[in-house]
Amino acid sequence: MDTSGLEDSGLGYEVILNDEDASAPWCPHGPTLLFEKREEGKQRFYACSACRDRKECNFFQRADEKVSEVRKMAREAENQRKKPPFSREQYDDRLKRFLALAPDRRKFCGDCQLLLLAEETAAHAAHALVLVAAPRLSRPSGLLRPLDNKKSHAQYLFTERTSHFLLDALADLGYNKVLCVGTPRLHEVIKTEGKSRGMTSLLLDIDFRYGQFYGQKEFCHYNMFNHHFFDGQTSSEAVRGFLRESSGEKAAMVADPPFGGLVQPLAKSFSRLSQTWKELQGSGDAEIPMIWIFPYFFEARLLECLPSLRMLDYQVDYDNHSLYKNGKTGRKQSPVRLFTNITPSEIVLPADEGYRFCAICARYVCSLNAHCSACNVCPSKDGRQWKHCSQCERCVKPSWRHCPSCSRCALPDHPCDQKEVRQGCFHCGNLGHKHKSCTLKKGFSRGGSASKRGSGVYVKQKAKKRKK
Ligand code: SAH
Ligand code: ZN
Ligand code: ZN
Ligand code: ZN
Ligand code: ZN
Repeated sequence: MDTSGLEDSGLGYEVILNDEDASAPWCPHGPTLLFEKREEGKQRFYACSACRDRKECNFFQRADEKVSEVRKMAREAENQRKKPPFSREQYDDRLKRFLALAPDRRKFCGDCQLLLLAEETAAHAAHALVLVAAPRLSRPSGLLRPLDNKKSHAQYLFTERTSHFLLDALADLGYNKVLCVGTPRLHEVIKTEGKSRGMTSLLLDIDFRYGQFYGQKEFCHYNMFNHHFFDGQTSSEAVRGFLRESSGEKAAMVADPPFGGLVQPLAKSFSRLSQTWKELQGSGDAEIPMIWIFPYFFEARLLECLPSLRMLDYQVDYDNHSLYKNGKTGRKQSPVRLFTNITPSEIVLPADEGYRFCAICARYVCSLNAHCSACNVCPSKDGRQWKHCSQCERCVKPSWRHCPSCSRCALPDHPCDQKEVRQGCFHCGNLGHKHKSCTLKKGFSRGGSASKRGSGVYVKQKAKKRKK
């Protein structure tokens, strides 16, 4: 079967999360995920959990396929070939030797993305070498070339404003151990500036290049889509050691996954991290305090998977993201928000950046997000002032108008006549429900659609659409 339609097929795929699918084959990114095509005989297949770009990982196997020994061996060889150039122990050893070098001999090769040992520099003489003085060494995110493949790693680094907001918010709430999941820049800010406030941090990330800057108690090579620790027990022990709270210690977790990522597998991994924390504390059924950073238009999906989360108005921005960074004309609206199980009123959003406290909602909101007395909430999701529609009995975006023929609010140029097409369940044809709540699809994950796997691209399109 041809899988070239995997990333952008309009047909869509659903991810099927079995509890522990020991039979799932492995790709270089750990155990694969099981997907099911929504239509065309609902074929099931295994594909990479982390990469939505076939160029990066083209693993594909039909669920019922018998795999020959020869292919299994070829696969194993490929998994070995894609391993990091050095083992965890080797990275630790290299770091020690690197730090023993005189400061003027500490070099980083930009071409190879590697901290060089003394005997290695000659071989890289023709490459772009950078001298790494201590401040640069403690900020690897500024040294490493961001992986910008939107369909997989999509490294978008926080601006100083956002990383300091997070640092201050966590410090003010007394969290002194922060599990940074896919947040290398927050990790380095905590390690440098949070240190004086008694804070420590452990980074979990799939980008193994970070492993050369940190010891095994500071970095774990981890895939957040399948909860896979590439260094096995060494890493899971590091996580357990980190999450175990001694007196006066309080742990929290901050994750900033690629936006094209499947929400359900992420939620499952975060729940498992929370479970680990819970077991270590033996503290009833509390969850680990968490902040999951994601675009606002995924709110329903996130809350469906982790109902304890609440979305905050704070707009997260990024240095290297054309859409979300400060533009020439001042700050653009970023669609990226914090979703948290920490009580919203406890996270103070900065007044000087235009946030205020709504006493009725008991949370900080964007200053334009006016409280609606009819809905009894501050309704805006996108930072603009929304308005109440008495016919729809809810607040809608400022650009929307009530359409009498659709009897709902929509953009003035919405396709009115397509109403019939958009309604109902495309799975069974019933007009009374959407496919997500279709009872004919028993045993399915609810709506974990791989058709949204287009990652950053998907977000960009959405974000553009929402500009209207
Ligand atoms: N804003 C953050 C970076 C977010 S970008 C900061 O400034 O710290 C997304 C991060 O998730 C990157 O660091 C990327 O390497 C990591 N990542 C991408 N896919 C991942 C996966 N499958 N598992 C773990 N980390 C992943
Ligand atoms: Zn080199
Ligand atoms: Zn309203
Ligand atoms: Zn309306
Ligand atoms: Zn149905």
